[in-house]
Amino acid sequence: MVFYAPSTKEAAAKDPAALRIRGVVFDMDGTLTTPISGFLAQMRQELSVPSGVRILDYIEDSMDGEARAWAHQRLVEIEDAAMGTMELSPGLVELLQFLHDNEIRTAIITRNNRRALDHFVNNVVSRQPETHRALFSFDPLIDRSFAPTKPAPESMLHISERWGIEPAQLMMVGDHGDDLLCGVRAGSVSALLRYDDNRMFEPKAHVVVDRIDELTDKLARGFEADMGITGDDTLGVGH
Ligand SMILES: [Mg+2]
Repeated sequence: MVFYAPSTKEAAAKDPAALRIRGVVFDMDGTLTTPISGFLAQMRQELSVPSGVRILDYIEDSMDGEARAWAHQRLVEIEDAAMGTMELSPGLVELLQFLHDNEIRTAIITRNNRRALDHFVNNVVSRQPETHRALFSFDPLIDRSFAPTKPAPESMLHISERWGIEPAQLMMVGDHGDDLLCGVRAGSVSALLRYDDNRMFEPKAHVVVDRIDELTDKLARGFEADMGITGDDTLGVGH
């Protein structure tokens, strides 16, 4: 077990060298926003993606020419429909306030398309009270055009390098096994936002919460993490 010291400014001032979380990277769909599992199921069904295979991998590996172009088009249409239902994850503002107050950086890595990410940043966030908007200053914003995408660790390592913060001091928060694997493979802490239908990913999570603002307490007090969790894909996460 590895102990992560509290991520508060006070704790950092007292013991600057302690291992602590200094940056948090979020998945978007189902993490910053409420789950879109119905839309993902619809995508899988319409594109006939076999269970155990990732949607984007299936399109790239098993389709070509017109079929691939159609699948990408259909994917964007379904993502557009999901965009209309985007709501902030309950408790998110409280967590972001804590991160902001303690100068902990934030970023987004999503496998969704750029327009959906922009919709989140420009439309969903702009519906928040003016006083909250500064909390949503995620940087960088990484969409699926970044290759290789999750569960590969490159996007996480890119953020680590850009921020000048070592991977072990970053946390990846998500609702899917691929988010957790991305974090684990980068050498970061992985946190699962648990719902009824994603419990099978728990073995790849250092931290598990049922509401996103439960992370506030863990970060404020410090927590233990079993850094022996491996990044091998044994869960059948292409789910
Ligand atoms: Mg997600």
